[in-house]
Parts: sequence; structure tokens; C-alpha cells
Amino acid sequence: MPEKRSALSGYRGKWAWVDLTGRTVRLTEADPVLCQDYVGGRGLQARLLYDKLKAAGTLKDPLGPGNRVVVGSAAANDTPIPTAGRGSCSFIGTMTRSPEPAAWVPGHKPLYGMVTHSSCGGLFPNMLKRAGIDQLIIDGRADRPVRIEAVEGEVRIVEAEESLFQTVAGRSVPRTASEITDALTARIKGSSTVCVGPAGWNLVDFACLTADHHRNFGRGGAGAVFGSKNLVAVTAYGREAVSYADAAGFQKLGRELDLIVKSSVEDPNRTASFRPTTGTTWWLDRAFNGRYLGVKGGYLPWHNFDEGWFDPADYARVSTDAFLEISGKHNVCNKCRHVFCTRSAKVESGPYAGAGVRPEFETIALWINCCILDRDAIFHMNYLCNELGVDTMTFGSVMAGAMELSEKGFLEKFGSRLRFGDAAGMVQALKDIAYAANGLGRLLGHYSDRVIAEAAGVAGPEALPGIARCVTTAYGGLGYAGISPKAFPGMFTAYGTSNRGRGDHTYAWTVQAEEGGLKDARDLAAYVAEGQAGKALVDSLGLCDFFTGDITGEPFLSLYRALTGIEYTAESLKECGRRIYALERRMNNVQGRDRTYDAYVPAKLTVPLSRGALQGRAVDEGFYNTVLDAYYDAWGWSRDGLVKEI
Ligand code: SF4
Repeated sequence: MPEKRSALSGYRGKWAWVDLTGRTVRLTEADPVLCQDYVGGRGLQARLLYDKLKAAGTLKDPLGPGNRVVVGSAAANDTPIPTAGRGSCSFIGTMTRSPEPAAWVPGHKPLYGMVTHSSCGGLFPNMLKRAGIDQLIIDGRADRPVRIEAVEGEVRIVEAEESLFQTVAGRSVPRTASEITDALTARIKGSSTVCVGPAGWNLVDFACLTADHHRNFGRGGAGAVFGSKNLVAVTAYGREAVSYADAAGFQKLGRELDLIVKSSVEDPNRTASFRPTTGTTWWLDRAFNGRYLGVKGGYLPWHNFDEGWFDPADYARVSTDAFLEISGKHNVCNKCRHVFCTRSAKVESGPYAGAGVRPEFETIALWINCCILDRDAIFHMNYLCNELGVDTMTFGSVMAGAMELSEKGFLEKFGSRLRFGDAAGMVQALKDIAYAANGLGRLLGHYSDRVIAEAAGVAGPEALPGIARCVTTAYGGLGYAGISPKAFPGMFTAYGTSNRGRGDHTYAWTVQAEEGGLKDARDLAAYVAEGQAGKALVDSLGLCDFFTGDITGEPFLSLYRALTGIEYTAESLKECGRRIYALERRMNNVQGRDRTYDAYVPAKLTVPLSRGALQGRAVDEGFYNTVLDAYYDAWGWSRDGLVKEI
């Protein structure tokens, strides 16, 4: 294999352009200017998606061959920088669609899916980099099931073996993620695989991709996009080490940064100190009752976001401590250091006995929102989601809506007996959705507006407003996350403006700031906008949300200089974050997003919380629109939410 080096260190310097329709692979040098301007991972992928969107125009069908999906890493990946194991996958999402008229949305405009970036840890992203590839840029659709191998600098498309499939509910679908991963690891020893599950093959709009058994490109529908391309898996293997612009300098500065991260994890006054023990689940107690450096709590969603608090005796069954009881050893991403948020877990007995990993806060919170109080069932469903390729969070939001619809009689003709709190019914629904096993499973696997339209088609048009009211994922929503959308106006702004769709919590996070007193509309807007630009950088650097260093502080900038040779200043790096976020927003404008989308407030969120410490809180539409004005001003966009052409 000829050695090809990027003009910049740190990167592999090679992009692989995969055309599944024509079955061709073309390797090119990475563009060093784009690497500098868009940093890596999420940023570079946004640019690679935009170049195609700009040439082809609005992508009306995210499940058509025109949807480009890019998988890859960044310069920092596979270095000793703590948490440098997070890779990126970008595409136009399937869940964030609302193409048909929606009578319950004032001034509705068609929306065709938003740019989605998913971050995934485990080993796969770093192994793809070791294989010599920075970005796999996948276009088209194969005429038969295929998979991709990226091995020691070569990329090839191969026929997917029949043994990777099984027939369930009359359909040939991929086996579980573990079975596929194990089979492909046996073919290429030491390799790492990311694969679609049965849900992705059945084009479930919230299907994810699973890497290394339990890591996921989770939100937005990456699994459905792979399924639509007849692409089963990508397997990577390589041994190339990262090159450094200044190896000795990197080693010295790396030790300094490592100490900074280590001391933050050892500081009991910082929330990072809880992660090695509780992972993300400390947020359960924080949101319910204010434990773990919180204030009062009262914002853990309950009963399809109606409430943020419920009976403490019931809560104890699914609390932070309840999940600590089943936690085992750390089971962390490649290159994670100190933070170590993931632990294995085991349920010893009962109908949900088994071994796996402890579910994350967001997963648990959104299943508590379905009134599920059975810890072992939550553990089991989390395991099933990993095996079947279902995004746990959107599944939770969809199920909460389905339970309310079902209890109100709107899903009777689809055979639904779903009820809030019915764990066994939810387990069955998960399988029915993933395997498209029956009418209810096929219905609930669609993006939400189609669910509303189909349910109203059966119940009659007069039922439409009542049906739409139950579905918080309506009008292209990804699904609200595990902090009650009624509790904090800043968090609601973060949810409403995220580039990857309504409800996403990762692009900006305001809870601590709002508990600390942040409340002015302009301050909230500026805080959200700054957080969004900062998160775009974290994702583009290949780091984890839980990296505790300051990426625009001198220790990190010096280290990054020693890695890549790029002379970022704090301001020039921040400018990259703003550039990436604005580019994504521009893409979303092309896909149909403007203020109408951002301003939509599901009707049930305007009804105040009736219990707990935050009793009386609800979304105030007037105030939210004031914050939105300030938000667009902070970004320099029009008050219609439009970015000028880039
Ligand atoms: S903190 Fe958790 S998610 Fe982040 S890199 Fe470490 S193990 Fe992975």
C-alpha cells in the first residue's frame, strides 16, 4: 500500500468515495483547507453533505439513493487525549420529516428531513482511522445487500453473506447486531464493525447503527439510511499509528492536559466526579429530587411529559441507586481516560435476566416518561434496542405518545393494548416495530406525521387534533430528551433550535445555568447559541461530551498545534464552530426549515406541571418567541430563521 500523508498531521489524509449504485470506490487525498476550516468529524461531514445538497437541491426523500451518508473521525481520534474515541456519522435524517400538510401546525411548511450528526464511541471510529481512512463518503443504493470493508488502506464493497440474515415475520432481515459483529470479527480478526439491525432494514425511521455490540450512532435514523442503501455493515481493521507534527511536544503537553481532566474527575464539587460510578444516571436523582449538586428537581418527565414528578416510592424502583445495584465493571470507549462513564450491568434472575451494559440517563428517563417502573425491564429493553438497532430515546418518545393514543382509543383498530406502565407490552411493541411484525409495529415505525395521518385516517378527520395532541414528536420532531421541556425556557430553546431536530439535548445544555438563575431572554439566547457552536467543535474534534478540558484554552490549543501543526487561536477555533453550525442551519433551510418549525410548541407542553418543586411551570409561547428573536440575532440570522447562502 503506498504511503499517503496529508499535508496536515493528525489526520490520515485519505477520503474514500463509495458509490453503491455503480459499485465503485475512489480514494482521494483529504483537502487540507477544508480540514482546517471545518476541523474534522461533524464539521467536515457537514461540508461534504452540503456540497452535494447545493449541487442537487432539496433532498425530498432521505430514504432515496440521493442521501449521502458519511462515516469518519477527526485529527484527535486515536491519540491519548482523554475521550478521543468518538466518531461521526452524518446524513439527512429520516425522523425529522413533515412533507405533507399538517393541519395542527399553524402555517405549516413542508420539511424533508434535517442534517443529522450522530456521535458514537466504542472502538470503531478509531479502528477506521487505523485502517487509513478519515471519511467514508457513501452515495447511491446497492441492488443487492452489501457490506463495506476498510482494511489497511483499502476499501471494498462485498456481497453481504446470506448467513448474516434470518427470516422473521416473513421478511429476510439482518441478524442481531451482536451476531453480525461476531461473524464479521471472525472473518477479519481484530476488526471492528458498525452494522444495521432488523429495524434499519425495515426502514424504521428511528433505527440506529450499532458498533462494537452496544455503541450507537443513535439519533436521527442512520440505520434506516443504511437499510435504504442495502448496506448491512462497515468493518474496519488497521494498524496505522497517528502522526504528530511535534511528537515530543505532544507528549509533554498531553501529560498536562491529562492531569487537568484527572483533577476534574477527582473534584467532588464537579459533576464529572460522579461519572465513573453512576455514568449519566446521576441525572435521574438530580432531575427528580435535586440530589447530586442540584437544587430541587421536579423535572423528570412522567406520563408523556404531562408531569415532572411522581410518587417517590415509585421513583425509588428506577432511581440512580436502583441502577447502581445492577452495575458491574467499566466498559468504556477506546481512548477514554478518567471519565469512564459506561459500566456493564447484569440482572441475575426473573423474566429480564441477562448481561449487558447499564442504560444511560436519557434512555431511562424517557422510559420513565412511559411510566415504566421496572428497572429490569428497562435494562432488558436497552439490550434489545442495541441488538435490534433502535434508538432508545426516540423509541421512548414514540411509545409515550402511542400509550396515550392507545388509552384514548385512537389505536384500537391497529390492535393496540398499550398502556402507560405496561413493561411487557412495551417490550413486545419494540420487537413488533423492529421486525415490522404487525400493523401496529409497522405504524409506529414511521416518522410521526405519518403515524398521525394513518391513525386519523382510521379514526376520522374529527379525531385529528386529539391525535396530534398526544404526539410530542409531531412536525418533524426527534423527540424531547429526559429533562422536562416544561421546566426551563432555555432548555426548551435548545430543544427547539437544535440543528438535528426538535427535542435534541446535546447541542446546547442550559440546566445548571438556569438552576443558577439565568433567565433573561437575551442571556438565554446567547447561552444556547454559544453552546451550539461549542458542541459543534467537540463533535468535530472527535471528543466526547464529557471531556472536561477547555478546548479553547491554551493547554488544549498548544496540544492540538503539536498534533496537527494548525495554529488555531481561541477565536479562530470558535469561528470554526460558528461556521459549522451556520452551515448545518443553511442545509436545514434548504430542506424546508425556518422559524415556523422552531416556533412550534406541542399543545400539551403549554399545560402547567401540577406536582413537585416546579409546579406551575409550562412553556410560555410568548416568552419563547422573544427568546427566539434574540437567538436569531445572536447568530446573525434573519428573524425568519434563515441563513444567507454560504
Ligand atoms: S466518558 Fe463515556 S461516552 Fe465518553 S468516551 Fe468515556 S466511556 Fe465513552
